[in-house]
This record gives sequence, structure tokens and C-alpha cells, in this order.
Amino acid sequence: PRVLANRYEIVKKLGKGNFGTAYLCKDLRNKLKDGTELKVLKEISVGDLQPDESVDAMHEARLLSKLDHPSIVKFHDSFIDGEFFCIVTEYCEGGDLDMKINEMKKKKEAFDEKTIMDWFIQLILAVHYMHTRRVLHRDLKTRNIFLKMNRMKIGDFGISRILMGTTDLASTFTGTPYYMSPEVLKHEGYNSKSDIWSIGCILYELCTLNHAFNGTGLMAVMYKVVEGEPNNLPSTFSPELNNIFRLMLNKDPAKRPAASELLKIPFIAQHLSKMS
Ligand code: ADP
Ligand code: MG
Repeated sequence: PRVLANRYEIVKKLGKGNFGTAYLCKDLRNKLKDGTELKVLKEISVGDLQPDESVDAMHEARLLSKLDHPSIVKFHDSFIDGEFFCIVTEYCEGGDLDMKINEMKKKKEAFDEKTIMDWFIQLILAVHYMHTRRVLHRDLKTRNIFLKMNRMKIGDFGISRILMGTTDLASTFTGTPYYMSPEVLKHEGYNSKSDIWSIGCILYELCTLNHAFNGTGLMAVMYKVVEGEPNNLPSTFSPELNNIFRLMLNKDPAKRPAASELLKIPFIAQHLSKMS
């Protein structure tokens, strides 16, 4: 079997994403009895990195590895292997939220409000943790959120920042249009409120199992994001939750609440105080 950095044995391919391939791997150095030796290795093709670019990327990666939050996929290690920049993270065996939503759709079931509130607040807490450390996600989507022991875990947080240093990838990096905010689509710049928009879109999807903005083709979706008004949440959900959803999808990023402001909204604060 293929072993990278003398340490990570590739077990199988998990999938291909925007900027690389994800593999399940065994950490040969940490052969713990409890099964925690399984990790995820992402191989990002960077071609020939300029020496200063690889220094920047390694620097960013080292910053990320210091961050630790229960709802953020732990960043373990990074290294350069030939033409690949590799990062090693925690493995979330429960699958991603996109898969989970599709399963529910197939079974014609829905998530209840209590579950959604637990997950939604975990997501806001994770985003708040990263934003207070000036790390943006830039690609929040259901495929970057995992379920591990009924807890939300956000993956790929800060990865965009590693890639930004490498000129090649910075220019090709794009998020997923379903979750992209109007200001990003209009090239007016990405900021922390753009992550809040994406979480709003994910909240809608948890409540309805459908995208907040949809259409036939990329252009139709992008037009709706910039010009269209999303539907309200179904009336089975609390009006307070619908109000929060609408605040998060304000077209003007300045009027969108920050994660810290969301946590102070009574409907959220009350639910949070009852969470374990
Ligand atoms: P993208 O985010 O664009 O989907 P990734 O490379 O992050 O691309 O992921 C590719 C595939 O690997 C996805 O199907 C995802 O569910 C899976 N995957 C990524 N990271 C993890 C992880 N930490 N644990 C389990 N599965 C993962
Ligand atoms: Mg991902």
C-alpha cells in the first residue's frame, strides 16, 4: 500500500472535491487501540509551488493545527509530497450532511425543530470560534459538514486560506453557488458575513431538505441569490426561527448578524442554555 510522509497509509479514496482528492488513511505512528488511528488525508495538486508560497501555505497550516473546537474537524498535520500539498484531518465516519439530507428525502422524513436547533447552534458556535480567530471558511456547504455522534463538525475550515497563498489555486477557487452570498457572486469581496449567509442556506436545507435558492442551471441559481427572495421556512417551524433565517439572508452583508449577535438572540440563547 501507498504510504505518505513515512506515516500515512492510504486505505481508500473517499471522494474528489473542488481542490483535491480525499483519502481515508491509517496513521502508522499513532496506532491506538480505540480505533482513532483512522484519519483523512487530502491531496491538493499545487504544481510547482514557489518557495515563498510553500512557506506561506505551511505557515497557515501550522496556525490551523492549533485550533480546537468540538464542532470543527480537527486539523492534524500538513506536508508537501512532490507536486501535492497534503493535509491530514480527523475522520468523520458518519458521512456528510448532504448524504444525510438525501437519505431523509428518500425516506420522506423530516428533521424536527429540536434537532435542527441543536445542530444549527453547534454550527454557529463553531463559526463564532473561527471568526473570533479571524479565520473564514469561504466554502460552507452541506458536503463540508459531518455528523459525528450526533454532533455537527465543520470540515475544510481555513483550507481556503492555505490555498490563497498559492496564486494558482487562489484564482481558481470558487465555492458552491447554492451557498454563495450575493456579494461574493458580485465580486464585492468575501467577509465573515458571507459565511453567515451560507449557514442561513444550510438552515433552510435542514428545515425543507431543499436548497434555499434553486433553478435549472448555474445562472438561474446565481440570479435568484442576487435578486430573488427565499421562501419562508415551513409554518411547522417557530416564527422566531424563520425571523432568524431571514436576518441571515439579508442581501446586505452589513445588515446580516455576526455569529456573536446570533448567539444573543433570545430564541437561540434560551435553546443554547438547555444544550449539553
Ligand atoms: P468537497 O468539500 O468539495 O466535497 P473534499 O475533498 O472535502 O471535497 O471531500 C471529498 C469527499 O470526501 C466528500 O464526499 C466528503 O464527504 C469526504 N470527506 C471529506 N473530508 C472528510 C472527513 N474529514 N471525514 C469523512 N469524510 C470526508
Ligand atoms: Mg470538503
